Formats: sequence, C-alpha cells, structure tokens
Amino acid sequence: MAPIPGSGLAKGLAVTLRTMTRKTVTAQYPDVQPDLPPRTRGVIGLFEENCTVCMLCARECPDWCIYIDSHKETVPAAAPGGRERSRNVLDRFAIDFSLCMYCGICIEVCPFDALFWSPEFEYAETDIRELTHERDKLREWMWTVPAPPALDPAAEEPKEIAAARKAADKLAAEAEAEAEAEAAAEAAAEAGADAEDRAAGADGQAAEEGPA
Ligand code: SF4
Ligand code: SF4
Repeated sequence: MAPIPGSGLAKGLAVTLRTMTRKTVTAQYPDVQPDLPPRTRGVIGLFEENCTVCMLCARECPDWCIYIDSHKETVPAAAPGGRERSRNVLDRFAIDFSLCMYCGICIEVCPFDALFWSPEFEYAETDIRELTHERDKLREWMWTVPAPPALDPAAEEPKEIAAARKAADKLAAEAEAEAEAEAAAEAAAEAGADAEDRAAGADGQAAEEGPA
C-alpha cells in the first residue's frame, strides 16, 4: 500500500512534540559541572606521608603504570644503646593515566591508606606524556578527595578510636591524680607551717609570763 502523502512529516512532528514534553537529560557540560557521586573514580591522589614504599601497589597494578623509586636511609637509635634502623625514602611516585584502567586495585591493596580516589576528571592533555602525573601532582589531587561519609550512629566504635580514647582517658586520669597529690601535699605543708607558727607563739607567751 502506498504511503499517505504527508504521513512521514506528521510522524516526525509527533516525535518532536513527544520529546518536547519530556524532561531533558542532556548535560550542559562544561557550562554546568556534573553532580558526581562521592565515590567517582576520577583521578588518584597520593598522601605521601603515609607511603612506606612497600611497592604493593606497583606490584599489583595490572597495567604496570605505577612508577616508584626510593633509597634506604639509616635512622639513628632512639635511645643510647639502641639499634640503628633503616627506612625507605620515596624519591619518585608517578602514575601514568594514559595506561591506568581505573580498576582501583592499587587503592584497595595499599596497607597504609596512602592512595585515594578523587572525583576530579578534567585533566585531558594534548601530549600523552603529560598524563604521567608525578608525586607533586598526585599530592595536589589529594586535596580534592572528598571527606569520608559520617559513621552510622548505630555502628560499632572503630578499634583505633576506642584505643585512642582509652589512652587519652588514662592520661587525663593520671594528670588529675597528679594534680590532686600536689594539692594535698601543698595543703599538708600549709597545715604544718600553721602548726609551727602556733607552737612558736605559745612558747613566746610562756617565756614572757616566766616561772610561777
Ligand atoms: S587504578 Fe588500577 S590500573 Fe590504575 S594505577 Fe591503580 S592498579 Fe593500576
Ligand atoms: S601500597 Fe601504599 S604504602 Fe605501599 S608503595 Fe604503594 S602507596 Fe606506598
């Protein structure tokens, strides 16, 4: 059957009208920044103070795109007679984001909480070499990492916080006991001085009155 003349136009207009009444889903980026979920995998930040150069992240990375250089340093003994220790010092930490597949394994395996996801994603480059972010840049990303969500009020207190609170309570109790002991010693010293004064006063009076 031959199509009715103008039916195609009518169908097209119907689609246009239907679409006009729907809520728009087009993101107006870059004029409007997207509202990303907090756990977005945008870029990796490095908190290098926590990094012990254990190399776990570099070893576990499936793309071998984490580059770490370090050297050993001798730390003198903390007390006389103690042993010297050696520790790793970080020289280079870089991630090549042109190879990274954003799997998050490095962040998961880091035992010292030195790597974090940041939702930042605007770091496209025209030169692929610029996608290797060295430690300074990785540290800059660290400041864009969102704060962790608040704990569930009904959740069990984390062991670290419980231990820290216990230690703080113990220190406060010791300081209070010390202050109380000092106050008691001061009070005893004052009472002793008063008694001496009274005894001296009584002796003086007896000497003035003389023998009966
Ligand atoms: S996210 Fe995955 S691929 Fe990227 S650096 Fe970490 S382990 Fe490697
Ligand atoms: S796993 Fe963590 S602590 Fe170990 S080298 Fe990587 S970032 Fe540093």
